[in-house]
Amino acid sequence: MASVRPLQQLLIEPVATLIEELSRLPGIGPKTASRLTFHLLRSSETQSQALAQAIINVKDQVTWCTRCFNIAMSDLCPICADSTRDQSRIVVVEEPLDVLAVERTEVYRGLYHVLHGHIAPLEGIYREHLRIAELLQRLQTEPVEEVILATNPNTEGEATAYLLLKDLAPWGIRVTRLARGLPTGGDLEWADAETLGSALQGRREIA
Ligand SMILES: [Zn+2]
Repeated sequence: MASVRPLQQLLIEPVATLIEELSRLPGIGPKTASRLTFHLLRSSETQSQALAQAIINVKDQVTWCTRCFNIAMSDLCPICADSTRDQSRIVVVEEPLDVLAVERTEVYRGLYHVLHGHIAPLEGIYREHLRIAELLQRLQTEPVEEVILATNPNTEGEATAYLLLKDLAPWGIRVTRLARGLPTGGDLEWADAETLGSALQGRREIA
C-alpha cells in the first residue's frame, strides 16, 4: 500500500517553509498556518512586507527591562522609568501581557516583576527558568513593602505563588495574593478589567 505523501512535500519550497514557520507559533496548527500562508500569497506585496518588517522590528527594537523584565525599548520599561509610580509595591506576573491586563484596571500605580512563565515540572520548567532570583535581588536594593502575587488562577499559577511565598517569607515583607473571583483556570490576560481590578483591590495577605 502506497503511503500518503505529507502535504509539505507536495508544496513548492517557499510555501512549505512559511507554513512550517507559522505552525511553530503557539496556538497555530498546520491548518491555520496553511490558511495564513495562502492569505499572504493573495495579499498585496505591501501588506506582506509590512508584516515581515514588523516582525524584524520587534526583534531589533524590543528588549526586556533590566529591572522588571517587562518589554522595553531601552534599559528600563516605561513603568520602571516613571519615578511617580509607587516604588514600595511590586505586582508579580507570569507574562508581559499580564502587566497590560493590570494596567488596564487603572487601580494600581506600583511596579511589576515579570517571571516569564510558571512552575511546571512536567514540562521541565523549574524555578531557575523563571526570573525569581532577580525578584529577590530587587528586595535587597529597592524599598519594597509589599509583593502582590498575581500569577494566573490555575494549577501552575497557584504552585508558582506558593513557591514564591516560601521564598519571600524570610524577608518579612507583606505578601498578598489576588482575591478570589477571577475565573478559575483562566489566564490573567483574559480577565475583564473590572473583575481583575476588584481582585487586586480585595487582595488578601498570605504572609
Ligand atoms: Zn520595568
